[in-house]
Amino acid sequence: MTTTTIAPEAGAASATTGADRPDFDAIAIGAGFAGIALIHYLREAGLSIRVFDRASDVGGTWAWNRYPGAATDSESYYYCLTFSKEILQEWKWTQRYPGRAETQAYMRYVVDKCDMMPHIQLNTEITEARFLADKGWWQVTTGTGESFTCKYFISGMGMISQPEIPALKGLDSFKGPIFHSSRWPEGLDYAGKRVGVIGAGATSVQMVPELAKTAADVTVFQRTPNYILPAMQRPMTPEWEKEIKDNYDAIIAKCRNHVFGMAFDSPVGRNVLDATPEERERIFEENWNGSFRWVFETFDDLLASPEANKLAGDFITSKMKARVNDPELAELLCPTYDDYPLFAKRPPLDHGYLEAFNRDNVHLVDIKKREPLVEVTETGVRTTAKDYDFDIIVLATGFKAYTGALEAFPIIGASGETLNEKWGTVSGSIMGVCVADFPNMFMVTGPQAPFANLPTSIEQNVIWITACIRKMEHEGHATFWPKAEAEAAWTKQTADIHAQTLMAQGDKVNSWMMGANRADKGARVLIYFGGANFYYDAMDQSAAAGFPELEFR
Ligand code: NAP
Repeated sequence: MTTTTIAPEAGAASATTGADRPDFDAIAIGAGFAGIALIHYLREAGLSIRVFDRASDVGGTWAWNRYPGAATDSESYYYCLTFSKEILQEWKWTQRYPGRAETQAYMRYVVDKCDMMPHIQLNTEITEARFLADKGWWQVTTGTGESFTCKYFISGMGMISQPEIPALKGLDSFKGPIFHSSRWPEGLDYAGKRVGVIGAGATSVQMVPELAKTAADVTVFQRTPNYILPAMQRPMTPEWEKEIKDNYDAIIAKCRNHVFGMAFDSPVGRNVLDATPEERERIFEENWNGSFRWVFETFDDLLASPEANKLAGDFITSKMKARVNDPELAELLCPTYDDYPLFAKRPPLDHGYLEAFNRDNVHLVDIKKREPLVEVTETGVRTTAKDYDFDIIVLATGFKAYTGALEAFPIIGASGETLNEKWGTVSGSIMGVCVADFPNMFMVTGPQAPFANLPTSIEQNVIWITACIRKMEHEGHATFWPKAEAEAAWTKQTADIHAQTLMAQGDKVNSWMMGANRADKGARVLIYFGGANFYYDAMDQSAAAGFPELEFR
């Protein structure tokens, strides 16, 4: 890996004045959607910013997740940043859900068009970030030992970026390639090879049908089955594109005002429990058009009422079973309400995953009930029933969501405690953007932010961050200190809402949405489920009130 070095003054034209000033006003980590949005909004506010990323290209998630079949689960035309109306009109999406390469190409286009590259330093890992109490600055250190100072330190590292590698016995003994799904080796040739996939979440659901086309064999080791919704991919037609581009303001407003930040037409004003069985089936069927839309555009109570949730889950699994030829296999692939409610785990969208199991070269191994996984061997995977031989093993085992990237290296606050230490049992924050004892530090979509269409949440967070920095600079403050009582209040509110949702059952099925998939930390409340739209309102109210959660010094 080579380091891309840019001149120290590149991008620097500081809002901080005087001889004794930091290298940059702001330093951010992560050249994905967050880094790009930060460059746009902070540059507009007159700040100097440098964005570091250890990847060799911009793209964030879309630079890393190079596994076959990787694609967005949000529809293309609202899985994007909205600050440039010109770019929204110019960029042409080719299909409903763009593949990884198309989304990354879009991000590169934004970076080039807005001349952002001078602010981005790639191939550079940050290994420490430390608050310097005497100056009120942050100092970040790179993997090569260089260090840079800034007034504002911002994480744009992504909420699903730090891999969770399971502590499987024998993991190092396998002789062939074995890697986490988000670290897919460039140019790996899997054609004609026997591939073992450990894990059956959203990543595997996208990967397996693509692998199956040319691999000799694909064997999926499944612990927990998923409620799988169909993606129903389709190409972007000129008529559809025109309709979108003629209505972008309304689409942006829909995202801003939706509980999951999506351009969906909901709430719909009807509950499944009020419908007759005939109406229910008709509405479920009529809306079976792909995407998460089905959950939101059929009835309003599917995620609120256990009875409604069960009816929705049963409908989904009946559709799933109809696509799998072998009834016994179909049963193994489908969860029931007694296993867990719909959305206690994040449901995957599929592009032919279920049909892939109708092929002779795709196999499912139930490692929960039938034959638990014992170890990885030199030649493959051993279960309690038999040995499976592979040429390649993929660990599609998920991520340390929301906090993992922030805990992976020391981020040291005012008291000398790291974020990792602070978040021992509770991952508290103020609206997912600030943490008490970490002055002048922001997170984009940190813990206790909502789970939503990410570009929508990212842009809303960056708008709040920029407004806060504008106040700091306008009023001449050196530091802001997130208040402990504001953090306690947000943490309590988030936990109270979480406890009332069906998502609170995620801990019984290792859901990453509660950090229940991690070996190193216990399950906890990680997501604000009060509605992304109400969360964005709370951020706007905070900014309008002069950021009462922060103490300015
Ligand atoms: P995941 O949903 O957390 O799934 C991980 C899988 O690995 C699960 O099946 C899990 O089983 C299994 N697993 C973990 N540890 C294991 C162990 N020790 N032994 C056996 N199996 C083990 O991870 P993911 O599929 O990477 O997806 C994570 C999230 O990333 C998604 O929910 C989504 O939000 C995001 N994502 C998005 C897209 C997109 O938008 N296009 C695509 C992919 C991923 P259990 O369920 O039993 O724990």
